[in-house]
Amino acid sequence: MMRSIESDALLYHVPKPRNKRYDVGHGPFAASVWAKHDPPSVRISPLRPRGARPAGGPPPGSSPTTRGGTTLARLVYSTANPKGNYQMRDHTSSMTQQRVPLTLEGVAGALEHAGVLTAPQAAEVIQHGRKKEAALRRSLKSKDSEDPWVSPIEIVASFGLPSKNPRRKTLEEDEICEAYSGAAGVPFERIDPLKLNARSVCMIVSKPFARKNLLVPLRIESGELTVAMVNPFDGSTIHWLEDFTGYTIKPALGLRHEILKTINEVFAFEHSIIKAEKLKTHITDLGNLEQLVDIAGGQEIEASNRHVVNAIDLLLQYAYDQRASDIHIEPKRTHAVVRLRIDGRLHATHSIPKPVYPSIVSRVKILARMDIAEKRKPQDGRIKTKFKDTEIELRVSSVPMAFGEKLVIRIFDPTLLMQDLSALGIFPEQLKTLKRCLGHPHGIILLTGPTGSGKTTTLYSALRYLSTPDVNITTIEDPIEMVYEQFNQIGVQHQAGLTFATALRNVLRQDPDIIMVGEIRDRETAEYAIQAALTGHLVLSTLHTNTAAGAITRLRDLGIEPFLLASTLIAVIAQRLLRRVCSSCDEPAEISPESKRLLGIDKGGIDCAGLRTGAGCEICRHTGYSGRTAIMEILDVSDEVRGMIRDGTDDKRLEAVARRAGAQPLMTSAVRHLLDGRTTLEEIFRVVPLAELK
Ligand SMILES: [Zn+2]
Repeated sequence: MMRSIESDALLYHVPKPRNKRYDVGHGPFAASVWAKHDPPSVRISPLRPRGARPAGGPPPGSSPTTRGGTTLARLVYSTANPKGNYQMRDHTSSMTQQRVPLTLEGVAGALEHAGVLTAPQAAEVIQHGRKKEAALRRSLKSKDSEDPWVSPIEIVASFGLPSKNPRRKTLEEDEICEAYSGAAGVPFERIDPLKLNARSVCMIVSKPFARKNLLVPLRIESGELTVAMVNPFDGSTIHWLEDFTGYTIKPALGLRHEILKTINEVFAFEHSIIKAEKLKTHITDLGNLEQLVDIAGGQEIEASNRHVVNAIDLLLQYAYDQRASDIHIEPKRTHAVVRLRIDGRLHATHSIPKPVYPSIVSRVKILARMDIAEKRKPQDGRIKTKFKDTEIELRVSSVPMAFGEKLVIRIFDPTLLMQDLSALGIFPEQLKTLKRCLGHPHGIILLTGPTGSGKTTTLYSALRYLSTPDVNITTIEDPIEMVYEQFNQIGVQHQAGLTFATALRNVLRQDPDIIMVGEIRDRETAEYAIQAALTGHLVLSTLHTNTAAGAITRLRDLGIEPFLLASTLIAVIAQRLLRRVCSSCDEPAEISPESKRLLGIDKGGIDCAGLRTGAGCEICRHTGYSGRTAIMEILDVSDEVRGMIRDGTDDKRLEAVARRAGAQPLMTSAVRHLLDGRTTLEEIFRVVPLAELK
């Protein structure tokens, strides 16, 4: 993902505070002033000791109107006044047009006007709001703030009034913000942590300042810094930020829980990195890793750095919370980039400075029991950890790249990897066929599809379905995707001469009932798989072909005799994963007549009213999709197909016969999902081979 030049500039050139602070005035007129130059006509006398104001910035909370003279946002000097008097002017009103004030009355009025609340509800809110406010304030009291400010929006939400949105039960903060922001003329911003430039955020404001003032800087666009704030009318904080950063501040309404969560996640990680960076007085060249290890004598000195340990813990937790399937940590010339893959797509999240990168790599490698001294060869390792009581397996691989070792950490959530077969998302009649095929005592079931099409999940789920105390299930994998106690699992080790074929040959001597072979890549493996099936075993495996029928041709090309194939094959399944339309933001969709014709749904009697598309919301990170569903074509080998395999009939005819007998093409499944509003046209075109179209 490209970052704007501006935000990258910010990453490396953090503006220094341009203005100095002066304490001026006396008694009730005492005030703090920020100015580029000494105010010419004012005698500068710090009335309060430095530090009377929190170092992080202005004091937390209260709305600008209740702030009083001492912390007034900005003063305008009247140099014309010979006596040195000054005028005070609060810029707040001119800065953000408060068309509707952020007060209980203002919010209730705006909601009533927008039809979110009825008149009696609005009246109730105004009448009982103060009591709720007191309760909320008590609950928000923390060590950070003795007297926390409670937003009228939060007060209204605490009433738990019914929502007008049919998807929701109660009226919640975001809905109130939406309605209020329209009336008040201040944008409402949800925070997508994946879109934040974490480093910039931490450079712009300190964590205590962000926490106290409940804000997160979001982005810089044409000289404007957009900041999500619980109180976007907090004039003094806005002015302080403006003076400190040199940018025009564009305040936006934000949600307290999102802002605090972001602060905790982003700051915690970045601060660990920044601290680790500071502790490194000498810059370790990424290309010179060997030297570092020599100095360390192979010990864990790098990893003992608690900031790095902390950063990795936070990163893993964060990736898990974001439902990421893998974490990529990629070294570049000047820094390293962290990217998370979510629902099949990569999102850049963090940037790691070059000096810290070797420590990060070492820490991950130690966790994964890899050799930290070995940096020239690719390595594999695994980490077992727990997130919120779920045992998770992380598989780590390192590969040397131009600027250092690239790490990929794949997250295997057993609840996702090993599901009930019905949770895969296939249609009931296909599930029935699948279960029937798995019920065969011996033979071969093959799964085909490109990488990332969910073959492993289907295999594991099928094995779990078959797993009972009286059967022996053995898997041969490269490498073992997820350790499951009920299975006997063998990891292929090419260096040690343990290949799919040799493992399979040896496994057969141990008389398993069911064998899963990770992948059939060569003739030898294919032959042993056939032999296993012929000698009374059920064999499950995968092949890299695009179509189900293509698998048969592929095996023939590998040199397998057609009659052996014909007598062992039970079924071939082609699989893909389709992203599901996000159920929190889906809305009716339409597709062009041309697309309908292409999909064969232009005929009368086909109801296209159910088409949906995701508008994008915080739950789906504005992608419009959340979660995935499997689609399958199950080529059930009938007697007719068996005969055709024996005769060496080509793919196309095999496929045609199988489909006549009921095998549903991938495109048919995809279109069914489309018509039911579960996926979109774009997703179908992205995933399903276009050859499937008529
Ligand atoms: Zn959504």
